[in-house]
Amino acid sequence: MTDSEVSLLRQLPAVATVLSTAEAAALLERHGRVATTDTIRQVIDEARQALRDTPAMPPSADELAQRAGQRLDAPAGGLRPLFNLTGVVLHTNLGRAVLAEAAIAAATDAMRHAVALEYDLDDGTRGERDDHVRALLRELTGAEDATVVNNNAAAVLLCLNTFALGREAVVSRGELIEIGGAFRMPDIMARAGARMVEVGTTNRTHAADYRQAFNPHTGIVLKVHTSNYRIQGFTAEVGARDLAAIADAAGVPLLNDLGSGSLVDLSRHGLAREPTVRDAVEEGARLVTFSGDKLLGGPQAGFIVGARALIEQVNRNPLKRALRVDKLRLAAIEATLKLYRDPDRLAQRLPTLRFLARDKADIEAQAHRLQPMVAARLGDAFAVEVGECRSQIGSGALPLDTLASAALFIRARGSQSALEQLAAALRALPRPVIGRIADGALQLDLRCLDDADEAMFAATLAQLP
Ligand SMILES: *Cc1c(COP(=O)(O)O)cnc(C)c1O
Repeated sequence: MTDSEVSLLRQLPAVATVLSTAEAAALLERHGRVATTDTIRQVIDEARQALRDTPAMPPSADELAQRAGQRLDAPAGGLRPLFNLTGVVLHTNLGRAVLAEAAIAAATDAMRHAVALEYDLDDGTRGERDDHVRALLRELTGAEDATVVNNNAAAVLLCLNTFALGREAVVSRGELIEIGGAFRMPDIMARAGARMVEVGTTNRTHAADYRQAFNPHTGIVLKVHTSNYRIQGFTAEVGARDLAAIADAAGVPLLNDLGSGSLVDLSRHGLAREPTVRDAVEEGARLVTFSGDKLLGGPQAGFIVGARALIEQVNRNPLKRALRVDKLRLAAIEATLKLYRDPDRLAQRLPTLRFLARDKADIEAQAHRLQPMVAARLGDAFAVEVGECRSQIGSGALPLDTLASAALFIRARGSQSALEQLAAALRALPRPVIGRIADGALQLDLRCLDDADEAMFAATLAQLP
């Protein structure tokens, strides 16, 4: 390093000097001593490194305080609200279901106050956590009993561990699913302590395959909803009703893992018909598991419904304690389930169903309303047009059924890299806007943008640099 380079480094303001600026005084007020001092130290270190790499005039104390301010004032972390314009309604990476107002209010109350989580208000004795949702789940599914855990993966794990620890769990080769995020049926079985017994073939499994597999070591038989794929062509599977009869005859409990599991007939809302949880219970599976934050539209949770004696066994498993849900989620679950008692207004009140049931004409009208604003905001470098697209339900629910929708198609008039840059700028907004790039266009599928949020969307775009 030359003498002049060393002297440039020496001119870099010290932490105390930066702290004495007016800007730093304001930062101290907003963010406190520790965070402000740490951040100032960071930006000074970075400036020192930059000067070593390329000698230049060092930044002033004011400049450094401003850099620290930008960092400290940056919008709150990654969990800030965003616009999901991906066209995937239940987007696992974007937090799946958006909750109903009633659920939000219930969770907020439970956060702020003490609640009778495990307390019987009638006689002042200890109560059970599940009591808050047991009656509702029984009413909505027709099952004898019910319990709730952290998510559906936990529900499956807990059932396997309860009934097949050190024993055999029978499953069709056509149903050995991987859902992503390391949820693979064979691995879950191994961790649950069950020995997996595969029956049938990838494309065909028959009743005799199950019958032959059953023996005194069998602990459970599984039917798994192939949520995210379909086997087509020369295929055969044993339906849940028939399998329930075979399992009952052998004295083996049948677990039907529905994955998404809807509580209502979706064909009432213009979607493809998917078997409901009530159907699965009625078909005779002794245990049925499903998610809280997929089609049900609630918070992350896993439900196990079924025969009382079996649910009691599940509840006695020590693992249940490790997988239970807290008061916030329980409050939100109870409020969400209550909405199902009024099916006529469900699509209005439950955002998941409202988004899924939204018809294309409505979304298209919204796209035409927003197009001039977006086009004006993006300027001459981009063309913005209204076009047709297909939305996905997401989370492995009804994988092949897409929904007719409408999107704003944004195309770069110049180079394609401009489109990538625009997508990045939209993600960097205080309320990020997430679309998807396909066929040379950035598509903003408006299915999940409520009309009431249009003004907020416009205000957000106005903040584009
Ligand atoms: C999604 C899914 C699960 C896991 O549910 P989570 O609530 O995400 O834990 C399990 N089984 C099937 C068939 C699924 O589709």
